[in-house]
Amino acid sequence: MNWLTNFVRPKIRALVGNDVPDNLWEKCQKCEQMLFSKELGSVFRVCPHCGHHMKMSVKERIASLFDDGEFTKIPYNSCVSDPLKFKDTKKYSDRLKTARESGGENEAAVVGYGKIGGHKTVAVLFSFDFMGGSMGMAVGEAFIAGAEYAVSKGHSFLVVPCSGGARMQEGIFSLMQMPRTVVAVNKMNESGLPYIVLLTNPTTGGVSASFAMLGDIHIAEPGALVAFTGPRVIEGTIREKLPDGFQLSEYLFNHGMVDMVIHRKDLKDNIAKILGILTHKK
Ligand SMILES: [Zn+2]
Repeated sequence: MNWLTNFVRPKIRALVGNDVPDNLWEKCQKCEQMLFSKELGSVFRVCPHCGHHMKMSVKERIASLFDDGEFTKIPYNSCVSDPLKFKDTKKYSDRLKTARESGGENEAAVVGYGKIGGHKTVAVLFSFDFMGGSMGMAVGEAFIAGAEYAVSKGHSFLVVPCSGGARMQEGIFSLMQMPRTVVAVNKMNESGLPYIVLLTNPTTGGVSASFAMLGDIHIAEPGALVAFTGPRVIEGTIREKLPDGFQLSEYLFNHGMVDMVIHRKDLKDNIAKILGILTHKK
C-alpha cells in the first residue's frame, strides 16, 4: 500500500483538498489486490477477486444480518476494568482506552436483539478490532446477559465470535469466562431455544474451547480459521507438515466439526431459514 499512501494520496489531496479519508483503499490479505473501500461495503466485504471474507465491524455485521439493520443493545453488568493492574509494554488500562477511542465500541463484544428474517433473535457480536476480540470479564458478562435475555423472552440466540481467545491481561478472570459462558449455554439448552454459532475468521483459543463450539448449529464463513491453537504453533510443536487447509472452515466441515459453510451474502437467508425450522415458524 505504500506507493498509494506516500504517492497517490498526496497527489489526490493536492487536487481535491484534505477531504480524502485515510482508508479509501484496502488490501486483500489473501490475494493482495487493492480494493476500493466503498465498493467492499456493497459486497459484504468479500474480495471480488479471490472470495476472501475480510473482517467486518460489528456495525457492518448488524447491517448484513438484521432486518432493516435494527438492533437494540442490552445492558449488562459492569466489571472491574483492570483487576490485576496489568502492565506489559503498555498498561492494560491504556490499551483499553486506545481500543475504545479507535473503534467506537466499549468492549470486544456487543449484545443486543433484533429480527433476522422476522425471527426475534438475541445476538452477541465480536469486534476483532477491540484487542483481538479477546474474552475478558466484560465479554463474559455480555454473553451471559444475551443468553439470559433470550431465555427470559423466548428468543433465539446467535453468537458471532471473531476472537483470538482469552484476554491475557485479565489472567485467571479471563479463563473463568469459559465455564461461565458454558453454564449460560446449558441454560439455553434447557430452555429448548435455538443457539446458533456463526464462526468467523478467526475463532480461536478460549473462545473456541468454550461457547463457540457448543451451538445447536455451527455455521462457518468460508476460509475461517477455527481452532484452539493455530497451525503454525502445532507444526512447530509436532515438527510435521499439516494437511492443506488444516483447521479452516472447509476442513472442519469435511471432518464433521461444523454443519455448514456459507458465503456471507447468503448468511442472513440461511440463518432465517434455520431459525424458522427450529422454532416451527415460517
Ligand atoms: Zn482477494
